[in-house]
Order: sequence, then C-alpha cells, then structure tokens
Amino acid sequence: MVHCGVCGGPCSLRGQDRFACSAHITNRSCGNGHTIARQGLEERVLTGLGDRIMAPDAAEAALRAYAEETNQLNRERRARWNVPARSWRRSIGQSKKSWISWRAAGIRAF
Ligand SMILES: [Zn+2]
Repeated sequence: MVHCGVCGGPCSLRGQDRFACSAHITNRSCGNGHTIARQGLEERVLTGLGDRIMAPDAAEAALRAYAEETNQLNRERRARWNVPARSWRRSIGQSKKSWISWRAAGIRAF
C-alpha cells in the first residue's frame, strides 16, 4: 500500500501508471498534487529492501503482497471504470421500459 506523505491517506494508480494521493484526486481535501511513477517507486522500494528481499521466504512474501496489492488496485480501477457503463446500461433499460409503456398505452413516440 502506498500512502501520501502529506495526509497519510492511501495513494492509488492513476493515468500514465503513476500513483497519486486519493484524497487530492477525489475532493482536493489534501494539497499533495504530486504523482510518482509506479516503476520508479518499485525500484526505490526494492533497492531500499536490499539484502532483506534476497531471503527466499521474504522474497516470496513480498512478491505475493505485491501481486495482491496490484490485483486490488486493478479491481478498484475496473470498478471505477464500470460505473458509467452500468449507469448507461441502466438508462438504456429505462428508456426501453418507457417506450414499451408508451406502446402499451397506444402512444407513438415517433
Ligand atoms: Zn494526501
């Protein structure tokens, strides 16, 4: 999990594969508008872990945690992207129902 250095809240992956403070993106309640490239951040973390990451158990745990975090971020991102599609499908469904009601009532829309 990546946390904002200003507000301490979570950061999430945004456009161009960069992490940004979620509070800043969502409602500007945090003033930290900086972003950091995922790849650069990962390199810094791995460098910082140094020899500790080389222990097989630690490496396996770190890789598992990284994969879980990446999967969670991807699920969150997909969920955000699907909201407009769901709303769009819902409004299409409602339009169809309205048209069927009009037809049942003998009203021709066109
Ligand atoms: Zn923040």
